[in-house]
Amino acid sequence: MECNIIKDLIPLYIDNCCSEESAEIVKKHIDYCPKCKGMYENMRTPSDIVHTVSAPTKLNRINDWRASVLQSVLLFISFAIITAGVALEAASPTGFTNGYWAVSLVIPATGFLLSLANWYFIRIYKSKKNFSDCSFFTTLVITLLSYIWAGFHYEWDVFDFTKINFTDSLEIIVLSVRFFWIGLLLTIIFCTLSKILSNKYAKMLGKE
Ligand SMILES: [Zn+2]
Repeated sequence: MECNIIKDLIPLYIDNCCSEESAEIVKKHIDYCPKCKGMYENMRTPSDIVHTVSAPTKLNRINDWRASVLQSVLLFISFAIITAGVALEAASPTGFTNGYWAVSLVIPATGFLLSLANWYFIRIYKSKKNFSDCSFFTTLVITLLSYIWAGFHYEWDVFDFTKINFTDSLEIIVLSVRFFWIGLLLTIIFCTLSKILSNKYAKMLGKE
């Protein structure tokens, strides 16, 4: 008999909507009645679920924030490298070093910087892997196209195949590697970073 009354009071007790006397009765009753205690525990659980659902939402917001910080920091760093490269290039307008800083710093950093624009479109990608692969290729393709552009702009003989014979070409390769090595190294680093960091970025935004 008492259990039925308690059963009616439990929802009010959980919501703190009953009088102190009723609350006292319910509290005492569920202490010794396992049946009503079980019912009380069951009814209380849904409110716990609400808590566990709201917690990831808060976590998501923090992760969204971390993702945009990551993107901003990368934009800033690549832009700083480009600025430094342009300044160094402007200081050596003629001679053999003409174009050196452009290929060493400006071009690899530009490839990376422009690939970051792709990050704004993360929602159109099917998966995290899809997105990071595309970020990698965007960085690589933009960098390579910039190198081809630079080849014509600085009028390197490397691009004039009619002038080159075999012995010359070995020499050209050695000279190119010497001239390009920082740029090549940075290109490899930026492409790798693009793949790793875009994957991290996607993870932060909860992309599977
Ligand atoms: Zn009971």
